[in-house]
Amino acid sequence: MLGLMQSQQLLISSLIEFADRHHHEGEVVSRRVEGDIHRCTYRDIAQRSRQVAHALDQMDLGFGDRVATLAWNGYRHLELYFGVSGSGRVLHTLNPRLHPDQIVWIANHAEDQVLCFDMSFLPIVKAVHSRCTTIKHFIALCDADKLPADSGIPGLQSYEAWIASHGSTYYWPEFDENSASSMCYTSGTTGNPKAALYSHRSTILHAWAGALPDALNMSARDSVLPVVPMFHVNAWGLPYAAAMTGAKMVFPGPAMDGKSIFELIESEKVTFAAGVPTVWQMMLGHMQQADLRFSTLKRTVIGGSACPPAMITAFNDVYGVEVLHAWGMTEMSPLGTVCTLKNKHVPMGSQEKMTVRLKQGRALYGVDMKIVDDVGAELPWDGKAYGDLLVKGPWVISEYYKGEGDSPLVDGWFPTGDVATIDADGYMQITDRSKDVIKSGGEWISSIDVENIAMAHPAVAMAACIGMKHPKWDERPIVVVVKKPGADVSREGLLAFYEGRTAKWQIPDDVIFVDAIPLGGTGKMQKTKLREALQDYKLPGL
Ligand code: AMP
Repeated sequence: MLGLMQSQQLLISSLIEFADRHHHEGEVVSRRVEGDIHRCTYRDIAQRSRQVAHALDQMDLGFGDRVATLAWNGYRHLELYFGVSGSGRVLHTLNPRLHPDQIVWIANHAEDQVLCFDMSFLPIVKAVHSRCTTIKHFIALCDADKLPADSGIPGLQSYEAWIASHGSTYYWPEFDENSASSMCYTSGTTGNPKAALYSHRSTILHAWAGALPDALNMSARDSVLPVVPMFHVNAWGLPYAAAMTGAKMVFPGPAMDGKSIFELIESEKVTFAAGVPTVWQMMLGHMQQADLRFSTLKRTVIGGSACPPAMITAFNDVYGVEVLHAWGMTEMSPLGTVCTLKNKHVPMGSQEKMTVRLKQGRALYGVDMKIVDDVGAELPWDGKAYGDLLVKGPWVISEYYKGEGDSPLVDGWFPTGDVATIDADGYMQITDRSKDVIKSGGEWISSIDVENIAMAHPAVAMAACIGMKHPKWDERPIVVVVKKPGADVSREGLLAFYEGRTAKWQIPDDVIFVDAIPLGGTGKMQKTKLREALQDYKLPGL
């Protein structure tokens, strides 16, 4: 017997309609590329996202066509979040930090039809537009009078002119909630980047679970600052959860330095902020130097890489801000676990609480997880046994975009590539990454890409790239090189060889020449042995 309840599809358009109806005065504040502060309300965002939907309809885009963005966190990007997905197209948030060649590859792979970009990325768009073979429309996110006359980009129009001629009444289409809504590429450990393709249903369920008190605890009384970029897994779902709860949104635009972020937190009375450890490190450094204190900030969610204990202590003990250590990944929309205490932890002393807070936390309702050994047998939840972490749930991918039915799942579970323990209370702690990718400033650097460039040098026989701990960037790559017999290249010569072949921040910090790189039984480089050999190594300048 079926239940007798209405079966309304979970669609992203319903989020902005809800915010318009129930929180129309709710504020959306953005620091713009131009440097000024822009203020509007959820009603404005709702009206303008409907104008976006009209403008896309007029471009004759089909259902499910990809509309790409190269943009910072800001109100126009938010309008595209709702206008693109709400009208049945797929929002593809490109990462402007990638090398132009990678951007071209990804845009072509996604078959993007439209590209909307902030003016700060005009040089990138100029460099790539002729190679992005599927993009038919280029929209600069600016006022009509700011559009450059001689950009060389065919048909370039300003966002404001593009939406201006359209009305703000629009009947959002109704369709299957399992339809694709947005996509985000992750740089895998091997080969080309892969895309997670989110659905309306997965996005809404993720936002719903993420907003709960034992997750991000979002409400209409919050002022939320996502420092995590909207091009990185949809800013961890915060734009959707904020519209669902009516929370005020504060967007930092391109100004991610400690001083600008601190000023925005104070001026906009931010209560909740989200970002990777690197961002908070810069802000805490600024605060310590200038002897500053927060007046409104209550909690901050930190994830993307492990949050150092000193950072949790600084936030908690010095500034009275609760740290929510969180873990997730692009393939998980991204939230998997958030570290919030249980009732039994409340009376504990701060030292004891700290041992809990350091962990990546408990699974959100909707995420199931397990750890397994080398043969796939499930390991106990005792906080000691560690194994490969697998997850499943309605906002975890089933396969990659254009995966051609080739599922990454193992018996229905997604292997995260992380190694973890889980304790008896269900708190998960990442002990290691089984991957060799390097995380620098919250972004991946593929060790294989770095190695491939070194290997392209005529004097290099073998190259292994590994990440070295860095106090500011978390990790920085170095490359360990074996020279070809009789050939020569200097450290400086090899580093110069990287220029123009990859993004600047992906160039290794150092080159170490060795006679041989240890190889395993199947001919694979044994990076663990290399790391052991280099345990006393210090990066240049540290
Ligand atoms: P991404 O897909 O770029 O979001 O990266 C996901 C990966 O980042 C995970 O598989 C982890 O290896 C790592 N990661 C994310 N959050 C954390 C965390 N809190 N602690 C340690 N590693 C993390």
